[in-house]
Amino acid sequence: MGNAVWSDKRKFIWVLFILLLSAFIAISAISYKVAHDSLSEHISENTLPLTSDNIYSEIQQDLLRPIFISSLMAQDTFVREWTLNEEQNPQQLIRYLNEIQTKYNTVTSFFVSEKSRNYYHSTGVLKQINDIDSEDAWYFRVRSLPKEELYEINIDPDTANKNRTVVYINYKVFDFDGNFIGVTGVGLAVEKVKELVEMYQARYNRHVYFVDRTGRVTLRGNEYHGSNSLQKSKELAPLATRILTSPSASISYMRDGKSVYLNSRLVPEFKWYLMVEQEEDPDEQKLLNTFWTNILLSFIVTVAILIIANMTLGRYQRKLELMATTDKLTGVTNRQVFESHFENTLKLATQESSRVSVLLLDIDHFKQVNDRHGHSIGDLVIQTVCHIARAELRDSDLICRWGGEEFLLLLPNSDLAHASNLAEKIRTQIAQRMIRVNGDEFGVTVSLGVGEYKQDESLQSLINRVDVALYQAKAQGRNKVVLST
Ligand code: GH3
Ligand code: MG
Ligand code: MG
Repeated sequence: MGNAVWSDKRKFIWVLFILLLSAFIAISAISYKVAHDSLSEHISENTLPLTSDNIYSEIQQDLLRPIFISSLMAQDTFVREWTLNEEQNPQQLIRYLNEIQTKYNTVTSFFVSEKSRNYYHSTGVLKQINDIDSEDAWYFRVRSLPKEELYEINIDPDTANKNRTVVYINYKVFDFDGNFIGVTGVGLAVEKVKELVEMYQARYNRHVYFVDRTGRVTLRGNEYHGSNSLQKSKELAPLATRILTSPSASISYMRDGKSVYLNSRLVPEFKWYLMVEQEEDPDEQKLLNTFWTNILLSFIVTVAILIIANMTLGRYQRKLELMATTDKLTGVTNRQVFESHFENTLKLATQESSRVSVLLLDIDHFKQVNDRHGHSIGDLVIQTVCHIARAELRDSDLICRWGGEEFLLLLPNSDLAHASNLAEKIRTQIAQRMIRVNGDEFGVTVSLGVGEYKQDESLQSLINRVDVALYQAKAQGRNKVVLST
């Protein structure tokens, strides 16, 4: 019975452990997920689009300046008159171009005449534009622009300085009657965009770069270490079509086990995509740390609860066991557990080849005690008899309340002679004791049957024999010990 209770308890503790821990883990995981999702949402819906907006407006500022300068040049009456005057004295235009370049700090300034196809530059006449030269294709492209489109923007890395990107504005020039007479413009370095890109990289660990409509990376910060086209990037290749076919996109993907958030938007003036990327936020690591701290705390709390539960259960278990095995009135062993005690005693006796005896004790005329003094005095008498008998026993002996006022005594290491001596002792001790109640004084006697265990005998047979002996003791006038032989 003890084992079953013990395994029930272990099962209960395990179930409790699993329930508590899984509840704690579920709660921690859910709160981690909620925090993580709101952080991701914040990055992809606020942080990155804001960065993108900011860079976009700065680009427009950077762009407006060269467009404005080129527009001034195209409207300049000197340039137009000089051209109409058969382009005499090229030195005058060259000085003009040089002044523009110095004044506005441009990378270049130029004018191409439709009539002579001369390419004038701040340092002189560079060359003649030729419609079969692919390098000069830009001129013919600008010339054939629709009437309402006055200029074209061209962005190229500066050939002299790879880190610098130059915006070229090619502006159409018309004479006073509206006839096309050439193309003029400046090239201006887009320093501000570069600075922004570097700043976002350094301060917020955000990667900013541009790709053209084919996916080629066109402008990037110094820190950029990705591939030079979307299609060549292992992670971005599957997303390239999605990015390059929509004006803006918010995407997250995995790179080296970390989630990367990406915001893309088309910049129509450039026909480029502005890409802003951010790797897993440092806050995300904090969330993960919090998650693991929660798990650790949950584990500690779970273990603490289990220890308390185990202790409480143990206490109740011991209490229950005691209640199940002892008699309430006398505090001695009850009939239910006698059998297992008897078996253990027999096993030990066989090993030691020693004798085992039993005594069956019954109070004489107990009904009269109850009748005369009442049931509760009867109880007191049962307790007293039990107490006196117990006082005569050794530690190894066992006394068991067998029935109402009957006790069975199990005596290991005891032959019939020893057992009958003990029975006699108990009988006389009880017979001599006077019980005082409410000034009344009376005595009780007991009768005992004694038997020694015979090899291979059953418990039932042994008890039957001592029962018969007890019956004989009663028959012989009570207050007697009778041996079963
Ligand atoms: P005998 O000498 O032949 O044993 O006569 P007896 O009157 O003692 O007869 P028996 O042994 O059959 O009596 C048992 C009585 O004990 C019956 C019952 O009323 C009483 N009894 C049994 N259990 C208790 C108990 O727990 N408390 C009290 N007060 N009386 C009990
Ligand atoms: Mg009886
Ligand atoms: Mg009796």
